This record gives sequence, structure tokens and C-alpha cells, in this order.
Amino acid sequence: MKKVVKFGGSSLASAEQFQKVGEIIHADRGRRYVVPSAPGKRDAKDTKVTDMLYDCYQSAGDPKALDQKIAAIAARYQEIIDGLCLELSLDQDFAEIRKAFEEQSGSEYAASRGEYLNGKIMAAYLEYEFIDAAEVVRFDEDGVFEPELTNKILGERLESVERAVIPGFYGAMEDGTIKTFSRGGSDITGSIVARAVHADLYENWTDVSGFLVTDPHIVEDPETIETITYRELRELSYMGATVLHADSIFPLRKEGIPINIKNTNRPQDAGTLIVESTCRQPRYTITGIAGKKGFCAINIEKDMMNSEIGFGRKVLQVFEENGISFEHVPSGIDTFTVIVHQSEFMEKEQRVISGLHRAVQPDTLDLESDLALIAVVGRGMRAMRGTAGRIFAALSHAHINVKMIDQGSSELNIIIGVKNDDFERAVRAIYDIFVLTHL
Ligand code: ASP
Repeated sequence: MKKVVKFGGSSLASAEQFQKVGEIIHADRGRRYVVPSAPGKRDAKDTKVTDMLYDCYQSAGDPKALDQKIAAIAARYQEIIDGLCLELSLDQDFAEIRKAFEEQSGSEYAASRGEYLNGKIMAAYLEYEFIDAAEVVRFDEDGVFEPELTNKILGERLESVERAVIPGFYGAMEDGTIKTFSRGGSDITGSIVARAVHADLYENWTDVSGFLVTDPHIVEDPETIETITYRELRELSYMGATVLHADSIFPLRKEGIPINIKNTNRPQDAGTLIVESTCRQPRYTITGIAGKKGFCAINIEKDMMNSEIGFGRKVLQVFEENGISFEHVPSGIDTFTVIVHQSEFMEKEQRVISGLHRAVQPDTLDLESDLALIAVVGRGMRAMRGTAGRIFAALSHAHINVKMIDQGSSELNIIIGVKNDDFERAVRAIYDIFVLTHL
């Protein structure tokens, strides 16, 4: 078995956490390629090293503040080095970082040093080869990640390397300029490495034992999802489920490599397995529930809309021209609704309204704000009669008014719109009917 293992910031926040990681890696010879994040929080009040680096870079023009902040970051690493009894000095690295900050190396370079330095420590600790991600993860001249070129470079570089540490989160353009992925992007590096080495499994180690059926801030102690498909996960991540960076699915989809979400603090837990497809039936009809608040519906009515060819295109063009992406477009015979993120829409609302009047001359146009969308996702719903019935019965029992319903053609998810204020109660009602009463 060839495995790529990625460890998140909380798994590497201290020497003690590094030791747990060391034990996990040594327990399985297949764990050959290691992708570390920067040290995360040691406790709730602590600051992630990545955030310290962004902040430190802001002080690049003030030598005294710069020294102080660099010293605080260096102390975080030194604590780990000492705790692991390593013969390693990062003095030279910090001197270079300081100089680069003064020369305005950019905030992406600054942030990337968190993973870079942690990777060096990890490589020394495991006695694995260190491979700088800047050499193998490539971005183009516009700063856009280049998946195919990276796959080629990385695949060739790792071909003859038995074991290596490749820091997460960053890469470089051809001229050496460092670029980072968006926050949480070490997950993406893990996927890229897994694809390049044709791994049998990508283990993503974090501080929870997998994905939960729903948000624990809403439902107390929700069940863990045992197996989930890439597509289900994409739906849930898009609607707000965190744990894994949503973009980390793409590199793996191409190879069908499974991801196992595991808990560094409870390695004995099975975690969640993310697969391309599976005949394993989910424990419940639904796999997960996720949702977000803060949407707005623009409702357009016009008699005989149904026979006006091009109506939908004209409406959507107004949104396009204003740079607003839409979430859903439920429609009726003479009604057409566009659902958008309220925060994106608010500033431009008057421009959109007048644009719509000009484009399609509606009879009425009204706005409804403060809506929440809930995605009920599950491959088990496909062949199952009555899922929608149960959802709406549960919502009706909870006295929740449904504002919108949208079922994708994949039958993989049902999206429900409710008022923001009803959001938590709606999620609880759906969880209860499928998981607690196990219908
Ligand atoms: N260290 C980066 C962050 O805090 C990337 C990561 O941890 O995945 O976002």
C-alpha cells in the first residue's frame, strides 16, 4: 500500500503532537509521503503560525516590531525542535525570511514559510527527504495553479524517492515567485501528491474523527459519516461543511483515490472514507445535512413568461453583467426566481433591479432577503420513495415554512430554502427524522 498522509495544523501544533504523528507514520510502512501544515493552535486562545506570519509581514517596514514578531514565530518552532530533541537550527532560515520580508517578498511568500519550516522539522524528525513544494507545485504567470504540469513535475521527482516530506499550501511560478492556495490549502497539496504518486489511499489527519452528519453547533453530538462519495462531499462542502478543503477533491477524482479523514488524537477511530463510488449503503437514507444563511431571492413575475423565448437568458445576463453568481433559479409558468448571496447582491441591488426592468419588463419584481439554504444530501435518496415527503413532514411538524425547494437531476440532494431564523430548527428537524428516529 502506498499512502500519502497529510497532517493539519492542530496535529502539528507542539512537540507532543509531532510525537503522535511520528507514531502514526511509523505504525504503517505504507505512509511514505507526508504533507504537513504549519503549526496550528495549541489551545483555543493560541494563534496559528500562518496568522502570525501574515501579521509579521505587515510589520516589515518597522524593524523593531519585525524582530519581535519573528522572534515569537521562531520560539514556536524552537519549542517543537527542543521537545523532539532534534539537532536542527532554523537561524539561517529566519535570517533569510527577515531579509525577504524587508525586500517586500509578498504576503503569500510570508504565509508559505509556516509549512516550509514545519516541513523541514518533520523531515529531520522522520529522517525522510525534504522536497520544497516550490520546486514541484507550479502556478502560471497569472498565479493560477497548473494541475497537469505539476502532476508531471511531481510524478517525475517522486518516482525514485522512497519517502519524502513535501510541505503543504504553496508552490511557485516558473520565475520562483511563491504562491499559496486559499486558506486550508494543504489539503489540496495532499491530493496533488496522492495523484502524482498514484497512491492507494490519501489519509488526511485532523482533530476530528471524520465528517459529521451535520454541524455539531446545531445538533448535539451528531453521528459520524462512515462513507461518503466525492459528489456528496462536494455538495456538503459547498454548503458549508468544513474539515476538508472543497478543492481537494478534484485531483483525486481523476484517479479514483479514496481519502480517509482520520483523527490524530484518536487514531483508533475509523474516520470517514471518501470514495468515488461505493455499493456500501449509507446507514441512514441521507448522508449529511449542511446549510448556510444569508441568501436573497429576486422574484420576477410576468404574464405569458412561459412563451417568451430567451427570458431566462436575459434575466441571468443582468446578473452576469453585474458580476453576481447565482445559486439557484426555481421557476414556475409565469414566475422566475433567482437566488443569490445577499452579501454579493446588496451593493448592486438597485443596478440589478433597473437592469431587469430594462431587460425583461416584468409585471412585478420583489425581493426577499434573509433566507437560508439547507442541502439534504445522500446517494441513498436516489432509489428511495418518500424522502422529500419525510423532509417536508418534519418541517411542517416543526412549524417551519418552506420558501423554496430544488431537487437536482442527480437526485443526490434536495435544497430547501427557509427564513434565516428557522435555519437551526429546520436542520434539527431533518436530522431527527432521518437519524434519531431512523426512518
Ligand atoms: N496553514 C494554512 C492555513 O492556515 C494552510 C493549511 O493549514 O492548510 O490556512
